[in-house]
Amino acid sequence: MAVDAVIVGAGPNGLAAAVTLARAGLEVEVHERADRIGGGARTEELTEPGYVHDTCSAVHPMAFASPFFSAFGLRDRVDFVTPEVSFAHPLDGGRAGVAYHDLDRTVEQLGRDGPGWRRLLEPLVEHARAVSDFTGGTLVRIPRHPITMARFGLATFEQGSPAWNLRWREEEAPSLLTGVMAHAVQPLPSLGAAAAGLALAVQGHAQGWPIPVGGSRRIPEALADDLVAHGGRIVLEHEIESIGDLPDARAVLFDTSARDMSRIAGHRLPEGYKARLARFRYGNAVAKVDFALSGPVPWANPEVARAGTVHLGGTRAEIAYAEREIAAGRHAARPYVLVSQPSLFDPTRAPEGHGTLWTYTHVPKESNADQTETIIRQIERFAPGFRDVIVGSFCSTAVGVEAHDPNYVGGDIASGSGHFWQLVARPTFSPDPWRTPGPGIYLCSASAAPGPGVHGQAGWNAALSALRHEFGIRRAPELQPTEG
Ligand SMILES: Cc1cc2nc3c(=O)[nH]c(=O)nc-3n(C[C@H](O)[C@H](O)[C@H](O)COP(=O)(O)OP(=O)(O)OC[C@H]3O[C@@H](n4cnc5c(N)ncnc54)[C@H](O)[C@@H]3O)c2cc1C
Repeated sequence: MAVDAVIVGAGPNGLAAAVTLARAGLEVEVHERADRIGGGARTEELTEPGYVHDTCSAVHPMAFASPFFSAFGLRDRVDFVTPEVSFAHPLDGGRAGVAYHDLDRTVEQLGRDGPGWRRLLEPLVEHARAVSDFTGGTLVRIPRHPITMARFGLATFEQGSPAWNLRWREEEAPSLLTGVMAHAVQPLPSLGAAAAGLALAVQGHAQGWPIPVGGSRRIPEALADDLVAHGGRIVLEHEIESIGDLPDARAVLFDTSARDMSRIAGHRLPEGYKARLARFRYGNAVAKVDFALSGPVPWANPEVARAGTVHLGGTRAEIAYAEREIAAGRHAARPYVLVSQPSLFDPTRAPEGHGTLWTYTHVPKESNADQTETIIRQIERFAPGFRDVIVGSFCSTAVGVEAHDPNYVGGDIASGSGHFWQLVARPTFSPDPWRTPGPGIYLCSASAAPGPGVHGQAGWNAALSALRHEFGIRRAPELQPTEG
């Protein structure tokens, strides 16, 4: 049976695209290989009964900042908690850098580097909406906020270059910034890491880094509820191997990796374009470990216990060294570790008095090494006694991350390297990178601009392009919650 539009994949971007198209009055069908929706935003019992864990994304800086989620009214549909500390960075000897939601408080605590932190971030925090606007689309367009973009560019060049230490006097502030830059899984310093880190740090002070009550799955659930309420259909456990597996449709939107779209769309894409997609690079990977705990993590520094997210790995120099090891294809002995402690803010995650801890570390692509012991050692370094509160754990190697969701090629959770050029040309250099030269074929996943994160922006932009080019609809549909 023919439909207007079909979407391959029910991740946050696929569902954002589906909602946008359904709200424009089209007949929409989503095909998902897994037995549940959500892609990188699923929540499951992984360790012990009663402990619920986010299988991929856990913390949602873009939930309030994304232009798509603002249009969709996500805050009115899902309950969030916003920790007073967006991210913390413990150092040896009980020291820590702490990024409070409140910029002034952060500046006060950073001592001699407080003024430098303020000068770097305050002009961007004051224009955080503009920052979300241009980091949420493609950079291959005339900017709507040229001054903020120029400021952001200058900050990126400084923190992404060998001059990155010139403004700092002590260890806490540069380590704090390095922890957030390292999200990009790139060598440090580098422009890609600096751009990603600054965008996240700005949101940490502007909106905070919220956590959905009940887990990340609440976000795709809200999207799916809206889709179904507007006539859309979701088909689960249907892996698309070839475009012939799909119903006839005027528009086909792929919430898959660029690599898989190229394979599945086959002859519907011109060979020259497929050759360009073959040059799109996938980055290094993560190995994830979820813990069930009998109590909170005994952090040496009590402020770290107030943070939604904690970055581990020691000083800026230590983290840069560990990331160089990963870039060289080796496992780091003392790697960067990203930690989220959702049960401190959301009691639904674990039995009363107990907790869950979400962690991952960087590893070379396609690694099949279990990183449980390495991560425990890094946590113990800043929280002696951590081992004693562990009730259970579940490890997903980089290979396992891809098995869970094939968009994470080789365990690359960004569905494409965050190298600066691939932030600009994602997946190819174009002012409309979501639209392919294949008739009616669109890429709507994190392999397309603006890249990784639960923000729905790739889905929204791809759907708006499809509405314009395939259906002659130029006006973005209303997405706010409807009554009833
Ligand atoms: C371990 C980990 C931690 C992360 N942490 C965060 C975080 O804290 N905050 C944050 O904002 N982001 C985080 N991310 C990134 C974020 O989850 C992704 O960037 C985001 O989910 C991308 O959304 P998407 O819709 O493009 O793709 P996905 O969420 O990957 O969804 C793609 C969907 O398509 C389906 N699919 C793929 N191929 C086919 C096919 N052939 N047929 C049918 N269905 C198919 C998949 O099963 C999946 O459901 C994390 C990711 C991982 C893996």
